[in-house]
Amino acid sequence: MNLHEYQGKEILASFGVAIQRGIVAQTAEEAVTAAETLTKETGTGWHVIKAQIHAGGRGKGGGVKLAKNLDEVSTIAGQIIGMQLITPQTPPQGKPVHQVLICEDVYYPGASETSEFYVSVLLNRATGRNMIMYSTEGGMDIETVAEETPHLIFTEEIDPATGMLPFQARKVAFNLGLSGQAFKEMTKFITALYTAYDKSDSSLFEINPVLKTSDDRILAVDAKVSIDDNALFRHKDYLALRDIREENAIEVEAGEVGLNYVDLDGNVGCMVNGAGLAMATMDLIKQAGGDPANFLDVGGTADAARVETAFRLILKDPNVKAILVNIFGGIVRCDRVAQGIVDAYTNLGDAINVPIIVRLQGTNADIAKELIDSSGLNVLSATAFQEAADKVQEAIG
Ligand code: GDP
Ligand code: MN
Repeated sequence: MNLHEYQGKEILASFGVAIQRGIVAQTAEEAVTAAETLTKETGTGWHVIKAQIHAGGRGKGGGVKLAKNLDEVSTIAGQIIGMQLITPQTPPQGKPVHQVLICEDVYYPGASETSEFYVSVLLNRATGRNMIMYSTEGGMDIETVAEETPHLIFTEEIDPATGMLPFQARKVAFNLGLSGQAFKEMTKFITALYTAYDKSDSSLFEINPVLKTSDDRILAVDAKVSIDDNALFRHKDYLALRDIREENAIEVEAGEVGLNYVDLDGNVGCMVNGAGLAMATMDLIKQAGGDPANFLDVGGTADAARVETAFRLILKDPNVKAILVNIFGGIVRCDRVAQGIVDAYTNLGDAINVPIIVRLQGTNADIAKELIDSSGLNVLSATAFQEAADKVQEAIG
């Protein structure tokens, strides 16, 4: 589950990680009140207005702006709230901004300079261990740093038996070129950050930038936090942080009816029983020159009601030009599924406006094929994998 920056920062702060302070606002008036409150609490005169969407690169798209007085807070917040924000990480049409985070300006001038670092905590799947990934090149895309100056990215792996050891936090601070007070602050920051990651059951923390202020404080200025869905049962309070407006509408609906659906970019809708077969089906579609529009596992009980729901979901995606139904009848009987398809098709009527290719294999596959072929509906049947792929190819031209 992905979180907004302001929610991620709240979690960090709850574990003692130092953050750039901010207050979330839904309107320009609320933004001004938030700025006034921050001025009282932190003494800041300048504020940063930050769009809250589930995508990075907001600064590049005009979703992060500095306001030097309350009039500017009001104007900028008014512009950002309600805008369609386009960043390198949003869909081409962008994402609507419902709220902004009003932050204290932490890039204030002072004795020495500010510096931006990159710090993330994530699971290294190759070693099965958590690691801290960090770089002196903060504020940039880490992908770009990895491509152009890979030697400036460091990693520190954590042994699950011991947890993070004090020398590891010091090593991070050292490699980031810090000394004196900033060095101490960074070791505290890294230690608290790792604890937060571990205790919140997160699957990703990406703090870009981590800022060293001119007076040597170390602060999280941004926060991308993903909580491991499988651990949410242990964190009922985090469940309330879910913002379904940020999620794919079809996926949300599928989740509600207990279907395992993942939206993809292609044009061939897939309805398959079993996750493994669903993956193989997507490969098959690719090989046939098509592109899967979704992953959908209808599970073991592919009855008429479920098949109908699945068709409705797939057809919500306007890119779908054909639907491939691929069912292996092991426990489920193919003729049952075939009857389900015929019934669903009849119920849906005009809603089905694309060709359907059905491949049924396994128990009673012959009877199933017979049922489909004699139904008189615009459904093409196949028994072999390749035959199904060829028919899909024909259907989408
Ligand atoms: P992202 O573009 O979505 O990654 O959003 P960030 O939260 O990382 O903010 C983008 C950039 O805004 C940062 O890299 C900073 O350079 C700048 N920024 C953030 N906070 C402040 C601030 O308090 N003062 C100033 N002057 N700039 C800030
Ligand atoms: Mn950032």
